[in-house]
Amino acid sequence: MILETYTKGLQTLIAEEEIKTRCEILGKEITEHYKGKDLVVIGFLKGVFPFFADLVRHIGLPIRCDFIGVSSYGSRTATSGVVRLTSDITQPVNNCEILIVEDIVDTGLTMKYLLDTMKMKGAASVEICSLLSKPSRRKVPVTIHFPGFEVDDHFVVGYGMDWGERLRNLRYIGYYPEGPPELE
Ligand code: 5GP
Repeated sequence: MILETYTKGLQTLIAEEEIKTRCEILGKEITEHYKGKDLVVIGFLKGVFPFFADLVRHIGLPIRCDFIGVSSYGSRTATSGVVRLTSDITQPVNNCEILIVEDIVDTGLTMKYLLDTMKMKGAASVEICSLLSKPSRRKVPVTIHFPGFEVDDHFVVGYGMDWGERLRNLRYIGYYPEGPPELE
């Protein structure tokens, strides 16, 4: 099995250097915003893992890190909004400030579920940092307090985001102008 089977026709949308610079800027903004507060940064699995690791290393505060996982039903390239919690955070967050970190907000349905879940746990505040956002696809309004990049209605892969569970390990973000290759 070779990488090129999956990267055939893939165009770079956001290069490695652009991602690095944006992580630095977001990390500084988050540090400034949460100075003196008890911040828990919660990553949304699985797609967030490279962004999460790069971002938190630019936050100059004694944050706690945790992760949440959900499964959602739908096609390979879109979520249905029917979301189920598959792995929960491991520590109490009542009266804490929560920052949910996500790879991409598409329809916003997953994020709405995560926001509601965190509010039910008694957080003092819940804000969102998302590397990517596709505003033209939104079904429910979502305020992204710390946005990375806005992208058009493309199915994107790389830097955590998958095509059939592959390509999460790419260092850049790409899209397929002719559509993604067939998966067996
Ligand atoms: P939403 O609930 O906002 O529609 O979808 C959020 C989740 O769908 C993201 O966390 C991501 O896992 C997945 N997703 C949405 N758009 C894309 C995309 O363009 N590429 C990939 N690989 N996953 C996406």
